[in-house]
Amino acid sequence: MLLIRNGTVLDGEGIRKKDILIDESGVIVRLEDSISSIENIEEIDVDKFVVAPSFVDMHTHLRVPGNEEAEDIESATTAAVLGGFTHLVAMPNTDPVIDSVSKVFDLKRRIQNSNAKCEIIISSAITCGRMGKELVDFRDLSQMGIMYFTDDGNGVDDPELFDFALALAQEYGVTVAQHLEFKEFRENKYFVNEGEVSSYLGMSGIKAVSEEAMLARDLAIAAHYNVHYHAMHVSTRRSVELIRIAKQAGINVTAEVTPHHLLLDEREVLKLDSTSFVNPPLRTEEDCLALRKGILDGTIDAIATDHAPHLNEVKDQPFISTAPGFIGLESAFRVSLSAICKTSKFGDVVPQGAESVVKAMSLNPAKILKISGKSEGGLGVGSVAEIVVLDMNSVSNLDASSFSSKSRNTPFDGMELRGKVVHTIRKGKLVVKNGILQS
Ligand SMILES: [Zn+2]
Repeated sequence: MLLIRNGTVLDGEGIRKKDILIDESGVIVRLEDSISSIENIEEIDVDKFVVAPSFVDMHTHLRVPGNEEAEDIESATTAAVLGGFTHLVAMPNTDPVIDSVSKVFDLKRRIQNSNAKCEIIISSAITCGRMGKELVDFRDLSQMGIMYFTDDGNGVDDPELFDFALALAQEYGVTVAQHLEFKEFRENKYFVNEGEVSSYLGMSGIKAVSEEAMLARDLAIAAHYNVHYHAMHVSTRRSVELIRIAKQAGINVTAEVTPHHLLLDEREVLKLDSTSFVNPPLRTEEDCLALRKGILDGTIDAIATDHAPHLNEVKDQPFISTAPGFIGLESAFRVSLSAICKTSKFGDVVPQGAESVVKAMSLNPAKILKISGKSEGGLGVGSVAEIVVLDMNSVSNLDASSFSSKSRNTPFDGMELRGKVVHTIRKGKLVVKNGILQS
């Protein structure tokens, strides 16, 4: 049993100061203004901290199978719980690609035989091998419980094929998530935004319209179906506007943004360091501000890490061939809070904007993914205790050398960031206590 004292509960049901008692089976059994001490049960005092539903990452590159040197199940899930996550969606762009019942079965077996520290939700590719030519077997995959389909890393270019994918998604009640990028716009380009910075550096960059054009096309197709469509890592002002309009028009669309697109803009690339390269590229300051606004007004539903571990030798390549992407599980909360709460004053347990960050990292992704026991929201009596305890006011410099991820590709190393994940509770057990993994 565990008693959490004096926490400020932030779970979408109104902000309130409560004590929480969790029983042996990991279920919240009491949520009251004050619970008196009970003999022989562990107590943690979280006065001045926020108690929220644990985080759910909709976008993790697990690198399993095929690239276990960059990350494996144990290292990724350890990084996840240290970052406040108890659930993550594993992207299917592995080697081999997760695109069939047998590949899903193999990954499930690997997860069962691993020392995973959090739940892993398996996703499937939309097309075989993510080649954009032939659709996977939506029926068989959905029957074995796969509810999330994406060719992440590639967009599905062919409109007819994508239309057919949405028809099947409607038939089997699954979500299609798109990496928004037309292949033709990326060829021979650097992972930099096409704009002032790219022309200053003499680099040909990736245009914003590469993302926006695919998003507009997808929304037009999705409008013909009763289907859930999810826009991954949106990065431009116009993408946010398109999503806003689509939602108003009643299209069942949700969207995510990464922490790095919330905090950094294209000027980061001027450092000429390969850790500035990511896809979609860091955009303009105006885009960055529009993404933050999208989180604050709810147009963008989720913050998802796009955790993309790479070994140093893969990252340290000439810029044109460097592997794009950052690790993000252990820095996501701090980076997002720093971006959204830039102007909030210090000292408040719940600074202005923090509620939106928490919602976008916990309640919203749980709802989008229909995670049982979590999608209903709140930390009410009777719910499984999947909880994160957050300090919104701590400020420190990020130290990537302390990360549990096997990779170190982050542009945030050494950066002063706000916020801290203090405790992570999974199924009622403290898996991270005072920032330290519990065995
Ligand atoms: Zn992607």
